[in-house]
Amino acid sequence: MSDRDTLAELIHAAICEDSWEHECLAWDGKCIRAAEQQLAAGVRPPAREITTAAELDALPIGSVISDGADQVLRRVVVFAGQPPGWEVTGDERPVEEVRLPATVLREPTEETSRG
Ligand SMILES: [Zn+2]
Repeated sequence: MSDRDTLAELIHAAICEDSWEHECLAWDGKCIRAAEQQLAAGVRPPAREITTAAELDALPIGSVISDGADQVLRRVVVFAGQPPGWEVTGDERPVEEVRLPATVLREPTEETSRG
């Protein structure tokens, strides 16, 4: 989920849901506009924490995390034809087992993963 959507859902839950504008998330209503304004001002939602192997496996190639041992890891293709793995950034050293919990530092958005 993008930072915009995360912020919009928080704003929506706090402000919109009790009002008649409860469909606003679907049509870029005031909660979406407020989230965009907050992002433009530098506000970011809390970093996402990864606590299970399934959540870890679901992260797309290009994701960057800080693992439970404070290593910064990047999601990469380690062996062609195999599921992606993790390597220490700047080191290209594959990581056999990622220590959890991990914190997502960067997750490619749909826009950036399309290039
Ligand atoms: Zn709303």
